[in-house]
Parts: sequence; C-alpha cells; structure tokens
Amino acid sequence: MSYPPADDRLRHLLAQRINCHVDTWKLAFFIAGAIVDDSDVQDEIERIGAAHARGQHCGDRHCPACFKAVTGA
Ligand SMILES: [Zn+2]
Repeated sequence: MSYPPADDRLRHLLAQRINCHVDTWKLAFFIAGAIVDDSDVQDEIERIGAAHARGQHCGDRHCPACFKAVTGA
C-alpha cells in the first residue's frame, strides 16, 4: 500500500507538514483533519484548481503555479 493513502491523501500531506511544528502526530493529524473538513478551505482549493484548469491566474499571491507561469522559472 502506498503512502499517503490515495483516499485520504490531502489530510496526510498536511499532517506530515504540521507534524514538523507540533509535539505529536496525533495533534498534527487532528489539525490536518480540521483544515480538510473546513468548507471555506475546500471552496478555495476548488476555486484555485478551477482557475488553473481554465488557464487563468487564481489571484493568490503565494501561488507557486501562477508565479511560475509569470516568470517562467
Ligand atoms: Zn495560481
């Protein structure tokens, strides 16, 4: 079985990053779960993905994909 699991990939990816900054994996996984379950976060991920799929800038100034498209870096 591959890791992170395909059916819970976003939560695990977030938890891995959060885990660098908190004491326990359990806490990291709890925080990641709260982020993944947040409807505003889900809406924003959807909005950014949809903009990119149309070949448009998503408008997020921290977006690495749009930065790359502008600078060619
Ligand atoms: Zn973007």
